[in-house]
Amino acid sequence: MNTRERMATFEKLANFRGISGHEKQIRKFMKEEISKYADEVICDRLGSVIGVLKGKEDEPKVMICGHMDEVGAMVVGITDKGFIKMIPIGGINPEVMISQNMEITVSDDKTIRGVVGAIPPHISKENALNIEDMLLDIGASSKEEALSWGVKIGQQITFVNDYYVMEDGYKVVSKAWDDRIGCGIALEVLKEAKNMKHPNTIYCGGTVQEEVGLRGAKTATQMIQPDLFITVDVSPVGDFLPSGSKGAIGALGEGFLVRYYDPGCIMNPEITKYFEEIADARGIKYQYFKSNGGTDAGSAQYAGKGTLATTVGMPGRYIHSTATIIDVRDLESVKQMVLAIIETFDKARLEKMQNCD
Ligand SMILES: [Zn+2]
Repeated sequence: MNTRERMATFEKLANFRGISGHEKQIRKFMKEEISKYADEVICDRLGSVIGVLKGKEDEPKVMICGHMDEVGAMVVGITDKGFIKMIPIGGINPEVMISQNMEITVSDDKTIRGVVGAIPPHISKENALNIEDMLLDIGASSKEEALSWGVKIGQQITFVNDYYVMEDGYKVVSKAWDDRIGCGIALEVLKEAKNMKHPNTIYCGGTVQEEVGLRGAKTATQMIQPDLFITVDVSPVGDFLPSGSKGAIGALGEGFLVRYYDPGCIMNPEITKYFEEIADARGIKYQYFKSNGGTDAGSAQYAGKGTLATTVGMPGRYIHSTATIIDVRDLESVKQMVLAIIETFDKARLEKMQNCD
């Protein structure tokens, strides 16, 4: 199987359009796939969708999630001349937006494509570096024309997905690896966990609105009250930077990320030890990662009396842009690690990690 074939489901996931709060397309697909394998499918009321594989009573509830939303923008106005005004959804550096092709989802089966105008040097040497000053040009000549095409305020605007496998056969580019890769891994893990021997009840699926404040993870974990929460999410590796410089942490192809520290979630040292142990025993490649950003683990940890929560990180170059690069070999490390956790986690391990002695 070549990489494109291996990644077929992931490609489908990455092609969907879904900023925070607009995850409908992805949720529909996730729900269909989850129902093929899960004993039960549950949803929280923000839109997170989770498949359940029932385990032994009194044994841990293990929750594994990717987030379904992607960064993008939202229509907040149409100028008299028919240009679209927007606000960013999720953290995007303004320079990422300039000159990009984007599409407005105007209905379930229609998108309108446009380009974020770049000002030619002939007119000005300076570009507007504030997304709210930028205009999406959809080719309309008036506000009335844009409205007649179905454009409305509140609609989502997403980057056009230029998806391809790179020349080396391992690296793959997409707009939405953060975090459709996590959604795809959750689906594959659910499928395999169904036929594995382990005592745990597995909750596996996708959360919503991660990019705007880890919101779906908050409601989904309150609903499920897992004993262990693991998010599979992309973290920005800095292997393209000069070594030693700020941000030059992590590399593509070097395995999953042990995110021992991020500003919203400090990894329980017992979990770190557990990860190292099972990854070493099984020859799963990993690397340590200190992050400046957060993941769903940051909000999941507040569920109930406090929840063991962490990330099995997927390395990605240039996240929160139109083109993030991942390496399929890392995908396999992440997946193998999550499966190893499902297989080896149990009540005895949980008790060791519960911060009560
Ligand atoms: Zn993410």
